[in-house]
Amino acid sequence: MTAIQTTDTRPRGVTLLGSTGSIGTNTLDVLARHPDRFRVVALTANTQVERLLEQCRRFRPEFAAMQDTAAAAELEDRLRRERLSVSVLSGIEGLNTVAALPSVHTVMAAIVGAAGLLPALTATRAGKRVLIANKEPLVMSGHLFIEAARQSGAELLPVDSEHNAIFQCMPTDFRAGDTRPEVQRIFLTGSGGPFRDWPAPDLAQATPEQACAHPKWVMGRKISVDSATLMNKGLELIEACQLFGVTPEQVEIVIHPQSVIHSLVEYRDGSVLAQLGNPDMRTPIAHALAWPERIDSGVRRLDLFELAQFNFERPDPERFPCLRLAYEAARAGGTAPTVLNAANEVAVQAFLDRKIGFIDIPRVIEQTRSQLPVGQDVQLEAILAADDAARRVAELRVAEFDRRSRQEAG
Ligand code: NAD
Ligand code: MG
Repeated sequence: MTAIQTTDTRPRGVTLLGSTGSIGTNTLDVLARHPDRFRVVALTANTQVERLLEQCRRFRPEFAAMQDTAAAAELEDRLRRERLSVSVLSGIEGLNTVAALPSVHTVMAAIVGAAGLLPALTATRAGKRVLIANKEPLVMSGHLFIEAARQSGAELLPVDSEHNAIFQCMPTDFRAGDTRPEVQRIFLTGSGGPFRDWPAPDLAQATPEQACAHPKWVMGRKISVDSATLMNKGLELIEACQLFGVTPEQVEIVIHPQSVIHSLVEYRDGSVLAQLGNPDMRTPIAHALAWPERIDSGVRRLDLFELAQFNFERPDPERFPCLRLAYEAARAGGTAPTVLNAANEVAVQAFLDRKIGFIDIPRVIEQTRSQLPVGQDVQLEAILAADDAARRVAELRVAEFDRRSRQEAG
């Protein structure tokens, strides 16, 4: 009798949205270990021509897309001169095209911020396996992703290390957006960031360099600042509610400085399941790429004896007001998480550009929120409009802080 061939053994086509970033390069590192399983079909970036060109040389994708049209033209020219046959696309249309190519099975969503929403949603609507590192779109419109996945059959797999850990601790038939009554609580862990031990008065002087020097993870600048304000945990709280069908009250944020327990799930019978590993994003990336199989990721093995102990603390709401703002937005629902996210993106960029101080980040967010009513329409157009309105208000607040600090300095 001949066995029926049920699995397709050809390498799966992969698109990387945001291939030049921290998650993007870690993903390429994992993919390069498994040429028999995966084939890079498309790479994308915003403006970094040199890095994308280097990746094209190495991975020979069919497509490269750049958000920035001038950068795309330069890339096309450079590729032509090197006689590399890669089709170059540009703008949001280019990103959407490579997110939905018929030859692509898996799309890694690793753009930073709300800019990644449309291509990630396009991939979901096209029924792809979508690996979600880019948490901001889920914060803004997780329900749209869940609905789209139910309609198209897309597989939404979390890559954010905590959410990937929670997913691994869920029942095996769990799918994103389900609610499981046997799951009672989620413990969402976080390292506490670079300012975990800083006294409150010092935070006013914190610089972008200090904020980006994370003790446990090497990441892009935006998420590094979010980790320092703890807004990253706040965004992750909302992300967890969307992905795992829980309320904000069911999510407990736990500061765990060793960053080895990536999160825990508490069941009705008192069992608490956790996922552990060295803090290296290649583990969740490899997990989501191969799920439900397991593949090598290149990550160093965990040594429990070297580690010796685990610590847990409650986060300090006084020094880190972003957490409170995120819980409030999570409870308010509607467009509140979108406004929170947009104001945060503007404030973080302004901090990185040295226009506002570290402790002004939550102030900009709170002032933006107080000027905008919470909308209950959460269809795509309303979400994008709320994002836009919040950015405009937040920019005005930033300009005001900037003006005042110049006056004080001068
Ligand atoms: P990064 O800044 O290192 O990389 C961002 C990528 O997005 C780059 O490839 C850049 O070219 C692209 N990009 C930026 N703006 C764009 C735009 N307007 N249009 C199109 N492309 C654009 O960021 P990162 O640290 O890799 O984070 C990516 C996402 O993953 C974020 O949402 C972050 O919160 C999430 N995440 C990151 C980590 C991590 O360890 N770095 C962990 C968990 C979650
Ligand atoms: Mg995380």
